[in-house]
Amino acid sequence: MKDLKEFRYPKDINEAIRLLHDGNGNAKVIAGGTSLTTLKGKGVKTLVDISRLGLDRIEKVKEGLSIGACTTAYMLSEAQELTRPGFRALQEASMTAGPHGVRTALTIGGNVAQCFPWSDLPVPLLVLGAKVKTAGNNPREMEISQLLERHPSKVLESEEIIKEFILPIDEEPSVTTGSAFIKVSRTKNDDGLATAAAWVKGVAPEGAEFEIKDMRVAVGSVRSMPVLIEGIEPLWKNSNGSDEEWIEKIGDEVLSQVGPIADMRASSQYKNRLIKTASMRAVRMAVKRAIEE
Ligand SMILES: Cc1cc2nc3c(=O)[nH]c(=O)nc-3n(C[C@H](O)[C@H](O)[C@H](O)COP(=O)(O)OP(=O)(O)OC[C@H]3O[C@@H](n4cnc5c(N)ncnc54)[C@H](O)[C@@H]3O)c2cc1C
Repeated sequence: MKDLKEFRYPKDINEAIRLLHDGNGNAKVIAGGTSLTTLKGKGVKTLVDISRLGLDRIEKVKEGLSIGACTTAYMLSEAQELTRPGFRALQEASMTAGPHGVRTALTIGGNVAQCFPWSDLPVPLLVLGAKVKTAGNNPREMEISQLLERHPSKVLESEEIIKEFILPIDEEPSVTTGSAFIKVSRTKNDDGLATAAAWVKGVAPEGAEFEIKDMRVAVGSVRSMPVLIEGIEPLWKNSNGSDEEWIEKIGDEVLSQVGPIADMRASSQYKNRLIKTASMRAVRMAVKRAIEE
């Protein structure tokens, strides 16, 4: 960042937006600072620090669980609220998103806004059906899948800041949810070779078997952006969770939607096996947690 001239510390998010505006395209938001400092950032003269605006919090609100954009991976990994089976996928991802020192700084907003192919947190956010709220000249609320349709830097405007994520909570009695995140990497905190998250919602009426009512599966580290697997309903519909055959079919479906895949770390044969196995393990674990909730 050879052009960098100043750090600005706004009092609130409106001032942050104004500073971005005043920067005339040469000002950028900094949150955890773990990737911004490694990117070239040609022409960036001003960094607007949003890490002191109270956006590092997790709280229950009317629409669900609100997670401020500056909540760090470490905070997510320690959060009592995310021990709920339906949210565990996000907590598990936050536990492996880089080495400990990085996780105490990297924010959920930065992990999504600067989405790399291996970024961990966007994958569970996709299956949990998160909503994203932004601040800017045209504040908006959108589905996380909309923000991740293309790279977020192409979806967000230059003077737009991700403010919070909302995870919907299903309060219907007799409904239970479970989720899981699986990461395969060379070491526990290395970039993922394959990641997969699954979320399951089901009911278990008195004396009857658990019945799946909804399911989402997403994978990461296989494309430039995480992929939400589509059209899997016929595969899980009418299944009760104890039958393995449909889980195998979901693994095959994941492969058919993202494969064949290869990168500098592994051959397509190896990565295909990883992504299928990771997806199946995530689904199995999510179902188990939903049944046990
Ligand atoms: C050694 C190392 C290992 C890592 N391993 C992993 C890993 O295994 N898994 C993983 O997921 N991540 C990993 N990371 C972290 C990842 O690569 C990014 O560095 C991190 O996600 C960026 O988050 P940040 O909060 O630090 O963002 P910053 O570096 O502050 O910002 C990144 C970009 O996002 C923009 N931005 C930040 N916050 C917002 C917001 N609220 N609204 C709009 N734009 C915003 C900034 O303007 C900038 O362009 C690793 C990082 C390092 C250094």
